[in-house]
Amino acid sequence: MTHALLDAAQACREWLVSTRRDLHKHPELSLKEKRTGQVTADAMEKLGLKVRRNFWGEGFVADLDVPGGKGRIALRADMDALPLTELNDVPYKSCNVGVAHMCGHDTHMTMALGAARLLAENRARLKRSVRFLFQPSEETPPGGAKGMIAAGCLDGVDEVYGVHNQPLLEVGKVATRAGAMTAAADTIRVRLTGRGGHASRPHEALDPIPGACALVTQLQSLVSRRVAPGTPAVVSVTRVSAGTTHNIIPDFAELEGTVRTFDAALRDQLEQQIGHMTRGVAEAHGLKADYRFERGYDSIVNHTSGVAAVRRAAADVVGEANVDTEYPAQTWGEDFAYFLQHRPGAFFVVGSGNKQKGIIEPVHSPRFDVDETCLEIGAAILARLAMG
Ligand SMILES: [Zn+2]
Ligand SMILES: [Zn+2]
Repeated sequence: MTHALLDAAQACREWLVSTRRDLHKHPELSLKEKRTGQVTADAMEKLGLKVRRNFWGEGFVADLDVPGGKGRIALRADMDALPLTELNDVPYKSCNVGVAHMCGHDTHMTMALGAARLLAENRARLKRSVRFLFQPSEETPPGGAKGMIAAGCLDGVDEVYGVHNQPLLEVGKVATRAGAMTAAADTIRVRLTGRGGHASRPHEALDPIPGACALVTQLQSLVSRRVAPGTPAVVSVTRVSAGTTHNIIPDFAELEGTVRTFDAALRDQLEQQIGHMTRGVAEAHGLKADYRFERGYDSIVNHTSGVAAVRRAAADVVGEANVDTEYPAQTWGEDFAYFLQHRPGAFFVVGSGNKQKGIIEPVHSPRFDVDETCLEIGAAILARLAMG
């Protein structure tokens, strides 16, 4: 039966590829997914699904109802693109200057549309209803997942699944894991204020730069000295800025960075310790410290039952040997986390890379692309999950 699903997906390969390329050509930023929402909602209606447009922002839900069916499964696709200029020279290159689908959300929407098509073709064999969640603004916290949930997208839903393409994994492979799969992704912002002055008379000023440099170095000791070996965590300072020119001591220095954790207690601990360290270093240098720890998305925590369902569905489509259920936890963040805080299910990745074809760039690279075979595989797995 499942080979039949992959066969059916392959039979509509041209449609999948042209759908993806159309979305790819017309990327839209978070909360601006107007055309994207229209085009994909139209396609869902054409397939016979019941669409509720503008469910939250440009996001929508599309229902495939099975009268007398047992419950409802939800499948989520994110819709937004990134503020990046695509550097690939391909016929389907982004037409919108400075905006591009470099996280491959165009592929997720296409996989969902493909699954809807396969399920609509197999409507008589469905045992439960299906809901597609087209979610805006995954890339920009606070993200669209919370909004969709608050608007009731999970009402009547028993379990929920989400997919992401992964070009670092060869096409044909599928991976997931039970428990924490992605990191909580938080932002730190620090401003150290001293007193500006003439660079030739530092004793009359209060230079914030040595303090800022000390703080960068100190922050690097947190993961190595305060976090248990083997527990994953990242503290990266990604922006340091101070001053305007060579002969002026600046008034202040600013630092920004990211903190990635998989454990709620460790997240709280690092928030506190970074604050403590920031105030301590500032104090030692006579500077005033402003510290903000801005919480991004929570960690995706997959349910064991959801991972088992993904494993079964994916094994049917790509074969047991190509399904990894011990995928290492990923340090990126994803707001699919919130769906799994409300319903059981799982998030999984579908390989979209192809070393032989040189498709190796990670998501968020300006040269990101996918092996489009991932579209039919993703569509078949989502359909198989729903038929499960
Ligand atoms: Zn992304
Ligand atoms: Zn993404």
